[in-house]
Parts: sequence; C-alpha cells; structure tokens
Amino acid sequence: MIQLSHIRKAFGAHEVLKTVSVQIPEGQVTALIGPSGSGKSTLLRCVNLLEIPDAGELAIGAEHIRFTPGQHPARDAVQRIRQQTGMVFQNFQLFPHQTAVQNVMEGLVTVKRWPRDRAHARACELLDKVGLKDKADAWPTSLSGGQQQRVAIARALAPAPQVLLCDEPTSALDPGLAAEVVAVLGDLAAEGMTMLMATHDLRLAAHIASRTVYLEDGAIIESGDSKTLFAAPQDPRTQRFVTTLTA
Ligand code: ADP
Ligand code: MG
Repeated sequence: MIQLSHIRKAFGAHEVLKTVSVQIPEGQVTALIGPSGSGKSTLLRCVNLLEIPDAGELAIGAEHIRFTPGQHPARDAVQRIRQQTGMVFQNFQLFPHQTAVQNVMEGLVTVKRWPRDRAHARACELLDKVGLKDKADAWPTSLSGGQQQRVAIARALAPAPQVLLCDEPTSALDPGLAAEVVAVLGDLAAEGMTMLMATHDLRLAAHIASRTVYLEDGAIIESGDSKTLFAAPQDPRTQRFVTTLTA
C-alpha cells in the first residue's frame, strides 16, 4: 500500500498541493482526476520523488520518508522509494536512439546492473506482454504513438515496481491508438498491478480504476469507489467536473 499523509508542495508562493492525504490500496487501480492545473502531475511526481514535497510523509510498502521544509531527504532513502515506482508519461519519452528492446532493458542494465542477456530476455517477455513481441528491434520513430506508449509501459514495468504511476497515458493518442493502451492497462489491472493514474479518459477512470480521487486546486475534494463517484458524486465541484468528462 502507498500512503501519502499531509503532503504539501509549493512552487515559490504558489501552493500546488495543500495538505493532501490519500491511500493507494495494493492490487487496485486508483484514478486521479481533476481540472488542468489542479496538481495531478505534481502529486504523481511527489510519489516517485521527481518532486520533493515540502512537508508530509510518504510510505510505499516498507519504505517511509518524512519531509521537512528546507531539508532534502537522504539520497539513499529517495533512491529506495524511487525504485518502488515505475512512471509512464503522456508523451512516452522513449530514448530515441535506442530500439524498443533497448529502451526496456536500459534501467535493468544501468540501475540494477543486470547482465545484458538476462535484461534482454526480461525485456522481450515484457514486450510480448504488451503485444509488441515482433517490434523488439524497431526504432521509436517507426512505431505508432500507441506502440510507443506500450513500449514505455514495458520499460516502466521492467524493474518490477510496487506501483505503476501513469500521467495521462492516453491523452496524446488518437482514440483508436488510445484503445490499445487502455487494453494493456486493463490487463495489468486484472493481474492486480497497483496503479495510480492521472487521466481524463473515462475508460481508464470509470471502468478500469476501482477507486477515483477528485483533485481541485491542490486539494482532494472527494474520493471513493469509481462507480459511485461517477454515478453519484457528492460534492458540487465533483458533480460539475464529472459532467464535463462525461458530456
Ligand atoms: P495538472 O497535472 O493537474 O494539470 P500540475 O501538477 O501539472 O497540474 O500543475 C499544478 C500547478 O503547479 C500549475 O499551476 C502549474 O503551473 C504549477 N507547476 C507545476 N510544476 C511546476 C514547476 N516545476 N514550477 C512552477 N510551477 C509548477
Ligand atoms: Mg498534468
């Protein structure tokens, strides 16, 4: 399980996350929804510590960090948390000068110090899992957006993270290509992968995620079972936002 407690993050005078507390249950998918600028990406980046929160606590499995204003947490503690997470970005961010299989192997070789042949074998298994077995030697530019995002998912899964963080994984894709990515994420959900995903995609939020968190202006307005939150949102702000998504 992942627990964020009283997480605060400001950029200068702008308080982007205002004492956010949320639990991400293990083996389930949690969707993070909210207007543009509400702090979804920042919250995801505070889980893998691409951003260091100003205050609060973060626990992932057995790892735990408390943040103190003006103090950077110990490097090894940050590394340990980071290694529990995998991240998928809106724009894939594959390494352009590496083939699909090289992209997936990269972290295993450079961070985990796996021998190349073992890393290659695992990368091929993961490409098979995302339906791209035959694209191992393809360059990113020769792949469709949906294929690139599936390579990015395989890459994020390579070190066997505790949680997969996805930042609008289908937003840069045409509907048909987005559907391929939704299908892969749905398979992972069915296997019990713990995921936290910021998304505007109702297929992901309302159907694949079992829980949904609604964020507005850096604060959690409402959270709960996805079906209930979409069918019967309680807070008027959630009601307004859900109407824009489902319109
Ligand atoms: P969302 O993903 O929900 O659109 P973000 O987390 O990207 O929201 O951004 C929340 C707010 O924080 C926005 O106002 C954004 O401009 C601001 N912000 C995000 N990252 C930075 C940064 N590195 N420096 C300054 N402001 C930032
Ligand atoms: Mg964002």
